[in-house]
Amino acid sequence: MRPRIAVIGSGPAGLAFARVLHRHGHPVTVLERDPARDARPAGGTLDLHEGLGQLALEKAGVLAEFRALSRPEGQAMRILAVDGTVLRDWRPRPDDRANPEIDRGQLRDLLLGPLDVRWGRAVTEVVPRSGDGARVRFADGVQETYDLVIGADGAWSRVRPAVSAATPEYTGVTLVETSLDDVDARHPDLARLVGDGSVAVYGVNRAIVAQRNSGGHVKVYAQFRVGPEWHADPGRPAGPDRGALLEGADAEAVRASLLAQFDGWAAPVLDLVRRGAAFVHRPLYALPVAHTWPHVSGVTLLGDAAHLMPPLGVGANLAMLEGAELAEAIAAAPGPEGLDEAVRAFEERMWERAGRWASMTKAGLERLVSPDPSTALALFDEVQPS
Ligand SMILES: Cc1cc2nc3c(=O)[nH]c(=O)nc-3n(C[C@H](O)[C@H](O)[C@H](O)COP(=O)(O)OP(=O)(O)OC[C@H]3O[C@@H](n4cnc5c(N)ncnc54)[C@H](O)[C@@H]3O)c2cc1C
Repeated sequence: MRPRIAVIGSGPAGLAFARVLHRHGHPVTVLERDPARDARPAGGTLDLHEGLGQLALEKAGVLAEFRALSRPEGQAMRILAVDGTVLRDWRPRPDDRANPEIDRGQLRDLLLGPLDVRWGRAVTEVVPRSGDGARVRFADGVQETYDLVIGADGAWSRVRPAVSAATPEYTGVTLVETSLDDVDARHPDLARLVGDGSVAVYGVNRAIVAQRNSGGHVKVYAQFRVGPEWHADPGRPAGPDRGALLEGADAEAVRASLLAQFDGWAAPVLDLVRRGAAFVHRPLYALPVAHTWPHVSGVTLLGDAAHLMPPLGVGANLAMLEGAELAEAIAAAPGPEGLDEAVRAFEERMWERAGRWASMTKAGLERLVSPDPSTALALFDEVQPS
């Protein structure tokens, strides 16, 4: 009999896992907390790297569809000094497919394809059953058992405590996100500033980055070193699982606070914040670098649940590749008795690769939001092809 497998979470990790397993003809249950596919905004754009996210899409059989949807021109990157001087203006060649951008919503729909997600299934706890799979408990009190439960439920995973006591820690950097719609028609000056891809401005312990998404949508990220409690309204609790949407008077207070923090920066750069709509507060958290755990039969983790790291363009890529590789390992396992060994071997590979990226992204964040802004420019020169 085939093992019963559940994946918790329909982010990049969970969907890549389920889609590849499905492609191998293996049934899989996808359990997602969100009540529906479009219950919340899908988020900004993601660049998918050739040897990581794109490899996962190839394993899922949807690379050609990705190529048709993605934006290679979105790889363009412009770096400005705080006075607006252009320091770098890098554009990809027309045939450059190394890291094309795709909107998260488009990626989700691409991976969802034929999958049958069970929406509105918020998991509260997973309990391993000593070598006999694991029990999943839901917020409504229902319980189900599976031979293998995969926690792909992101930064604040409810599955993680079944294998590890680690919790994410604040990195010292907070990100406040805003966005502009229909930029080409409504904000042509800012559309030119952002170009086809991204514009980044690095100052002392702070930065502003704006990225073009599809459909003339631009996401703007203000980043700065500050205590985790930072908030325009000190009366509002700022817990770690933020992503808190700030609208109306709250948004105006945040806007004023950001404009004060970035006072003296070039007017067009500040206009990215001045003209933004609502704001989202995202303190950046990370799990300890090289997070591992003693193998627990019946439960494992993928993606941010396993190795949350600063957002330097790799988290979703790793999450997807891990999902695809775990699915392939399970599909190739010799019967239910080989399942545990396949998961154990996969974990070793995941930890080794994720550990390398976790230390790189930790060091990268130190250089991008740094007391010496020249470190950010140097990092760009190191990683960008000439
Ligand atoms: C501003 C920003 C920009 C980024 N840019 C990039 C980029 O360009 N490239 C890149 O590779 N990475 C990027 N990242 C990182 C990337 O977003 C994450 O690494 C990636 O989303 C992790 O995927 P995941 O599937 O592990 O988790 P998630 O995407 O967090 O998905 C988890 C899923 O689990 C569900 N869930 C949570 N709890 C439960 C529960 N209890 N029960 C059931 N379901 C649950 C959630 O609703 C969600 O659908 C960025 C991150 C940020 C914050």
